[in-house]
Amino acid sequence: MDENIVLKIENLEKSFKNFKAVDGLNIEVEKGEIYGFLGPNGAGKSTTIRIILSLLKHDKGNVYFFGEKFTNHSRELFSRIGALVEKPDFYLYLSAYRNLKYFSELYGHKFSKNKLYETLEMVGLSGREDDKVKTYSLGMKQRLGLAQALIHDPELIILDEPTNGLDPQGMREVRNLLTDLAVNKGKTIFLSSHILKEVESMATSMAIINKGKTIVEGKVQELLKNSQTHIYIETNNLPNNFNFENNKDIKVIKIEKNNIELEANKNVITSVIDKLRSDNIEIYSVNSVNSLEEYFIQLTGENNVS
Ligand code: ADP
Ligand code: MG
Repeated sequence: MDENIVLKIENLEKSFKNFKAVDGLNIEVEKGEIYGFLGPNGAGKSTTIRIILSLLKHDKGNVYFFGEKFTNHSRELFSRIGALVEKPDFYLYLSAYRNLKYFSELYGHKFSKNKLYETLEMVGLSGREDDKVKTYSLGMKQRLGLAQALIHDPELIILDEPTNGLDPQGMREVRNLLTDLAVNKGKTIFLSSHILKEVESMATSMAIINKGKTIVEGKVQELLKNSQTHIYIETNNLPNNFNFENNKDIKVIKIEKNNIELEANKNVITSVIDKLRSDNIEIYSVNSVNSLEEYFIQLTGENNVS
């Protein structure tokens, strides 16, 4: 099997009583990718991640790491994997440094003082390493969790909503750190999120899941490039017979008195404006929404894309 497929999830199924939380999920993550595992709350992301990490039993399907099928006998694979799931627990009366040292040793690793401080610096905790964790904000605890996931230099990093609880500045820092790990250090990162913009800004591939099923999957750039755009144009009164009938790249959704709604690739906006101007029509506003974004807004029932 292909060793470049660092993580493969095959026909995964998991029910809680009669409720199917994961319903035949298939995912393939290539080496060096940042893979965004995107879905609204309740989609089945955390359940899937807990299954991958053997924290939860599944009903059907297989998980492969580095081209090798995971069984109860392949726990040594976990030394090549770092993970951060839900809110990490720490000893509140110990410093970040002491916590990191303690948990590393618990998992059988012994690191030098330098390595421990270096990792804390990498996640942006410099200067606070020796403060008790009880004085930490949620975001700082999240970063300490990241330090714990990264300290043993794993090849594959699995993160469940790693920017949860961070302020915008903290989010940016975590994004930059993860991008650096993938681009400059060859790490593969699988991370879940419920924010499309976040995945767009960082991931190379993504899957959108809902109700335990994959709905869209592919390279982020291609998904965005190929997805159509809704274009809304507000004008002064349009002539009665106004239309775009000669342009086969444009699908007209509606043309009303002073509103035009089109579906097309974004690159036609300029020619649409040219046409309106050549007909002496005044343009008051032009808005465009990517159909992938619109779709995701519908899915989540809220506008969390901006
Ligand atoms: P996400 O992480 O995408 O928000 P989850 O994987 O946490 O979604 O949950 C998926 C669905 O499974 C939700 O409807 C949730 O309520 C349900 N679920 C998760 N864990 C349990 C459990 N231990 N018992 C029963 N239902 C659960
Ligand atoms: Mg979750």
